[in-house]
Parts: sequence; C-alpha cells; structure tokens
Amino acid sequence: MNVGILGGTFDPVHNGHLILAEHARTQLALDIVLFVPAGEPWRKAHRTITPGEYRLAMLMLAITDHAQFGISDIELRHPGPTYTADTLETLAAERLDDEFYFIVGADALADLPTWHDPARIVKHAMLAVADRNGHELEAAIAAVPELAPRIVRFNMPPTQISSTEIRARVAAGDDISALVPAAVARYIAEHRLYTTA
Ligand code: ATP
Ligand code: MG
Repeated sequence: MNVGILGGTFDPVHNGHLILAEHARTQLALDIVLFVPAGEPWRKAHRTITPGEYRLAMLMLAITDHAQFGISDIELRHPGPTYTADTLETLAAERLDDEFYFIVGADALADLPTWHDPARIVKHAMLAVADRNGHELEAAIAAVPELAPRIVRFNMPPTQISSTEIRARVAAGDDISALVPAAVARYIAEHRLYTTA
C-alpha cells in the first residue's frame, strides 16, 4: 500500500489539513492517509498545546466521512518530544510492505534543514510536498538539494487557513464554521477550547 503520513499539532485540525491530505491522496495514488498528531512538539515550545485527548477527539470527528483517512496515536503514546524520524522508522518497521509518503506543506519543507535527522526521515519515506499560499516551493526545495531526489510534488488550491487563525478567531468570539468541519466547531464550543488567546 501507499501510505501518506500527515504529521502536525492539529490544534485544531482544520479544512486546510483535509484539503492537503485529499489532494496528496488522489494525486500520489495513496491508499490511505494517516494523520499523526504530535505529543509535545518541541518546535512549538513557546505556547501551551491543547492536551492530546482533545486534539485526537477533534481529528476523529474530522475524518469520520473520509474512508481513506485514518489516525495514528503513536506520538501521543510517548511522553515528551517525538521526532518524525523515529515515528517513520517505527511505522515502517510495523508495515514492511508499505511505501510511505510524508506529507508536508511547503512552509514545513523550508524548516526541514532544522528538523531532527532529515536523512533518516527520507530513508523511510518520500517527501510529498504541497504548495502553501505565500511560500515559495522552488526556494524551499533549492535550500535542501540533498533531499531533492526524495521529494515528490503535488498541487492543491491555496488555502489560507491555519490553526493559529482559528484559535485567534475563537478567542475573539468570531465564527469559524467555514474553516473547520461542523462537528469540530461544535466540539470546540462545547469544550470551551481556545477561549483565551
Ligand atoms: P499552527 O498555525 O498552529 O502552526 P497549522 O495550521 O500550521 O497550525 P499544523 O498542525 O502545524 O497546522 O500543520 C500540519 C501540517 O499541515 C504541516 O505540514 C503544514 O504545512 C500543513 N498545513 C497546515 N495548514 C495548511 C494549509 N492551509 N494549506 C496547506 N498545508 C497546510
Ligand atoms: Mg504550522
């Protein structure tokens, strides 16, 4: 099987993530896309991340209508920071016959040289890279020439949505119904998430 892996904080998951996953799935002929929420992402240490159980619950609500989307809680099960390279290595060892595609937005690709052990990441997975509005995909790839042979590209319509914007809108009392699945918006309201900026 061709397995897409979409790692992220998903605080909260939003329509941009779903559009990203769906475009990767169809264009790269992925059989499934696994969303992998981060436990304690060290790159976002400057703000408090919503506990994993809430982020996982929102992901489950977001993917119920998508038969080819799944979730792996592998990073939530490990306390402390988890590294993409370790996650991919563990998943690859569990699924020896599968081909992995680690899905990243172009902004995340630009960060890749600062990731932990990028060589080990591309040992276990191709990098499936989308364009994200406002970021130059060509420049991002040029910055990591040694990874270029492991990069495959796909297109998606630019979507400006970010979790940061959603948290800010909720804190300001603004509507987020166009940005997240309805069930996720309801969950955020019911659990009073993101009420303070
Ligand atoms: P935050 O604003 O908190 O950083 P985010 O919206 O960027 O959140 P993440 O969980 O950090 O969401 O992102 C997970 C992955 O999804 C990353 O690879 C990121 O590049 C990608 N991504 C997020 N939003 C979009 C979008 N609107 N279009 C394309 N890719 C996106
Ligand atoms: Mg981000």
